[in-house]
Amino acid sequence: MSIYRCKYCKHVSECTNPNFTPTQCSQCGKPVMVFDTVTFVEHLVKRYNEVAQELHKLTRTRDKKFHKN
Ligand SMILES: [Zn+2]
Repeated sequence: MSIYRCKYCKHVSECTNPNFTPTQCSQCGKPVMVFDTVTFVEHLVKRYNEVAQELHKLTRTRDKKFHKN
């Protein structure tokens, strides 16, 4: 299965595109890149975890500074 997220209208959709070649957004008709669904979700989970860790670090740093004053 393949998936895309349109960078123009933010529409997300699955599509039956076996070669992962660019296709047209079903919402706005602009060209979109198509990805393997598992690879796409793995990338999102990895990115989410990186952002969550960064937020955790920033929150701890902020709290340490707050308690010093
Ligand atoms: Zn679109």
